[in-house]
Amino acid sequence: MTDLPLWMWMIAAGVLGLLVGSFLNVVILRLPARLEAAWQEEAIAVLGIEDRPAPAKPPGIVREPSHCPTCKHRLAWYDNIPVLGWLLLRGRCRYCREPISVQYPLVELLSGLCSAAIVWRFGAGWPALAGLAFTWALIALSGIDLRTQLLPDQIVYPLLWLGLLLSLWPFMVTPGVAILAAAIGYLSLWSVYWGFKLLTGKEGMGHGDFKLLAALGAWMGLGCLLPVVLLSSLIGAVVGVTLMALKRHERDVPLPFGPFIAAAGWVWFVAGDRLWAAYAHLTGLH
Ligand SMILES: [Zn+2]
Repeated sequence: MTDLPLWMWMIAAGVLGLLVGSFLNVVILRLPARLEAAWQEEAIAVLGIEDRPAPAKPPGIVREPSHCPTCKHRLAWYDNIPVLGWLLLRGRCRYCREPISVQYPLVELLSGLCSAAIVWRFGAGWPALAGLAFTWALIALSGIDLRTQLLPDQIVYPLLWLGLLLSLWPFMVTPGVAILAAAIGYLSLWSVYWGFKLLTGKEGMGHGDFKLLAALGAWMGLGCLLPVVLLSSLIGAVVGVTLMALKRHERDVPLPFGPFIAAAGWVWFVAGDRLWAAYAHLTGLH
């Protein structure tokens, strides 16, 4: 696998990342709607409200072909080409001319670039495959959290289990460290949450955030927890202040924290050792 130069593997991973990015867009849009419908069905069953009509089934994630969300026209394969399709259409539907959300090309581009970066970091081989799964799960989670303020268990738990299982290999950390870091990651944000709630009566973050940090701990071990929390708070503060300055965000509406944890976790995953070395160099730590 290693006789091809690394840059060729990076391009291949980038193209794969673009294609997977299209699928991630679909997951980001359709998974929350499907969860909502499932919760409504459960609630109706639990409460025994039988006279209420069952909610309409939202579209399947894999089975239903892509269509314009406004005019419902089915998209041609060439409109579905990642990033290029959107650019060629200049961000408007071919049939009804309604704008197509910039989320589509952005998620595809992000997925492509991050996938190439994973191969740059881990080389061509099995570790890169694990890294790609990690990357794509974090992108899907961030997109869903930004849109709906949810971090679905259906993605966070498989990410956590995969991290724990990979420690048997071992991928980045040994099983003992992975288990400990998952538990401490969960409990640290859980304590912050309850401390904040007892002091202010407000909820600063969601339970999904604890589980996400637990998953990152399972993948990367104890050493990642503090840097990820500090980095995500920093990114969150910068983004929050910028949005408020641009008057794009109300002060009292909580920003979803998941995307910042995911971004900080991914940066640490790809460049944590370099960042740590740079920090140690700057502060004279050795
Ligand atoms: Zn349309």
